[in-house]
Amino acid sequence: MKEFFVPTLLSGLYTLDPGEIREIQLTLPSEYTVEGKTYSIRDTMRPGTAFLGKPWGLRTEKFRRRMYTRSNCSASEPGVLTTIINDTHREKADTSPWWLSHHVEALYARSGTVDVRLTLNDKRSELVVYESASHVYENNLRLEPDAEWANKQFLGLAFSTGITPFLAHLRYMKLWQFGRTATCCGATYVLIVSVRNPKQLMAHEELLELETLFPENFKYHPVLTREWPDDWLYTTGRIMHSRNPQNPEESVNISPLLRIVPDCQHYHVRMCGNRNARDQLLKGLEEHGTQPLSFRAEVW
Ligand SMILES: Cc1cc2nc3c(=O)[nH]c(=O)nc-3n(C[C@H](O)[C@H](O)[C@H](O)COP(=O)(O)OP(=O)(O)OC[C@H]3O[C@@H](n4cnc5c(N)ncnc54)[C@H](O)[C@@H]3O)c2cc1C
Repeated sequence: MKEFFVPTLLSGLYTLDPGEIREIQLTLPSEYTVEGKTYSIRDTMRPGTAFLGKPWGLRTEKFRRRMYTRSNCSASEPGVLTTIINDTHREKADTSPWWLSHHVEALYARSGTVDVRLTLNDKRSELVVYESASHVYENNLRLEPDAEWANKQFLGLAFSTGITPFLAHLRYMKLWQFGRTATCCGATYVLIVSVRNPKQLMAHEELLELETLFPENFKYHPVLTREWPDDWLYTTGRIMHSRNPQNPEESVNISPLLRIVPDCQHYHVRMCGNRNARDQLLKGLEEHGTQPLSFRAEVW
C-alpha cells in the first residue's frame, strides 16, 4: 500500500480555551490525482482511531508528522475530520503551539490546507484515510467490532483532549441507538472527563443532551480540577491522587473515582490521556484490589 499526503481544507476552527485547546475540522477533497490517475477518496475510519497530519512545527520550522484522534465519525460525517488539539507546553513542544497560534487563524481565514495521509487501496482503485490502528489492541481505542460492543458496559476515562476517541465512540453508538433492539438493552457507557476549568469542557452540551436522550445507556460525569463554579454538581479536584506522581512506587488514592463508579470491576475500562495518568490509574486499581473486566488505554 502506497502512502500519499493530500491537502485537506481547514474548514473549521473553534477555540475553547485560548492558547490551550482548539477544535479543528479538515475537509477531504472527493478525489485526488496521482501520477495522472484520478482516484476517489473514501472515508472508512473506525471510531477511536487517529489520522496522520502534517502541521507546521513552530520550534523546528518544518512540517512534522503528527497523529490526531478523530472526534467525529465517518458514518455520519464522511470526509470531514474533526479533532481537538491542546498545546502541550512541553519544553520541546513543536506543532501543538502552532495549532493554538494566530498562524492557524490566518490559515483558516484564507481557506488554507493541511496535508493528511491517505493510503492507496489498489484493489478498489481508491484512496482511504490512513488510520493509526487497524486492529483492536490493549494500547489503542479503536472501537470493538459492532457485534461486540452492543452488550458491554464501558467506563471511559478522558483526561483533557483525551476525550476525542470517546466522542467518536459515543457519536457512533448514538447512530445505532447504543445497540438497543427489541431483545437487547444495548451498551452502557459511563464517561468521566477531567479538565482544568469550565472553558475546557468539550462537547459539554452535546453530552448532557445525549444523557437525556439515552438515560439507560449513557452517563456523563465532567470533573473540574482547578477552577469550578460554586454550583458545580459534579466532582471537583483530581479523580486520583498520589503524593509524588513522578515516583512509580508511590501509592495512588483512587477514592474520588470510586465515589463516581464504585463498581469499576463490572466495567470494560477505557482510558485516554498521558502516560503518568495511565500508570497511576493501573496502580490505584491494583492497590484497591479492583480488576476491571478489561482495560485498554491510549497514551500520548
Ligand atoms: C495515536 C495518537 C493520537 C493522538 N491524538 C491527539 C489528539 O487528538 N489531540 C492532541 O492534541 N494530540 C494528539 N496526539 C498527540 C500529537 O500527535 C502530538 O504529539 C502533540 O500534539 C504534541 O505535538 P508537538 O509537535 O508539540 O510535540 P511532540 O510531538 O511531543 O514532539 C516535540 C518534539 O520533541 C521530540 N520529542 C518528543 N519526545 C521526545 C523525547 N522523549 N526525546 C527526544 N525528543 C522528543 C519530537 O520528536 C518532536 O520533534 C496523538 C498522538 C498519538 C500517537
